[in-house]
Amino acid sequence: MKSVKRAVSILGLCSALLLSACNGEDSPKETEQLETKLQPIVIQGALPVESERMASKLDNVSVETVGGWKFWKGTYKGYPVIVSKTRMGMSNSAAATALAIERYQPIAIINQGTSGGHDPALNVFDIVLGKYTTNIGAFRTPRLPIGSGSNSLAWTEAFDVLPEDESDPEPIAIRKFEGDQQLLIAAHKAKTSYSKGNVVEGTIGSADVWNNELDRIQFFHNNYQTSVEEMEAASVAQIAQQFNVPFLGIRILSNNITNNGAYNPATGEACQDYVLDVVEQYMKQQLDKN
Ligand code: SAH
Repeated sequence: MKSVKRAVSILGLCSALLLSACNGEDSPKETEQLETKLQPIVIQGALPVESERMASKLDNVSVETVGGWKFWKGTYKGYPVIVSKTRMGMSNSAAATALAIERYQPIAIINQGTSGGHDPALNVFDIVLGKYTTNIGAFRTPRLPIGSGSNSLAWTEAFDVLPEDESDPEPIAIRKFEGDQQLLIAAHKAKTSYSKGNVVEGTIGSADVWNNELDRIQFFHNNYQTSVEEMEAASVAQIAQQFNVPFLGIRILSNNITNNGAYNPATGEACQDYVLDVVEQYMKQQLDKN
């Protein structure tokens, strides 16, 4: 079944490449390399405003829906690309990632979209490249008797949900997933085309929580070195690591309550445009390597 699917996808790619070869966009040598060597890259967005623009820029598109998850399969500038709408949150994005890896054997995964600033030096429209991505929703809380209340600022023990030692039932550590070096290099190359804000490396914090308490946000910024928060990237990183698939989180600030940065809905599209440039740079790099 897999080989049939692969044959079909290679056929699709061939016709796309023939087309672009006719347009004079790719040399025959490159075309041959693309066809035989490159697996698709998966780019994810949680919401329609974080994925549909990228999908609209693909050529030769076919849509595949699995359960509640939508995948657009096509080419961008001749390179094989899957755009994945993961829906919101850690569970949805984990499931969409596992499905994508099993179905498409991607060369790499980029999780991108909007986020809220934790760093007052960052402004709406700035973009954070996830040198690190970390779960900010997993803790072991202090033991307190009934009637003592609950103070999340005292939750200083992070719970590592992917410990190396699986026999430890209460692993305490902040786990940071490192962004893939080659993806980071591509993202830096693509910076020159982005003029709406700064592009910086940083730490992306993820949880099924929207934090609006400034003390809580400062806690994460100080203790986890978070630049931004959102609800998916660390979950995707965790799954990608277990499949050994290169991963990078790329997040634009759509809001930043640490410096009164009001929510701007246009950020979702700006991030998608930048990420398509990253994809082009990365796929070019991968071709040159082969
Ligand atoms: N359209 C709004 C709200 C999006 S709803 C916006 O972009 O700000 C939540 C989604 O946006 C999640 O998928 C999450 O990854 C992301 N997000 C944006 N800002 C966030 C914040 N301050 N906290 C948590 N998630 C945030």
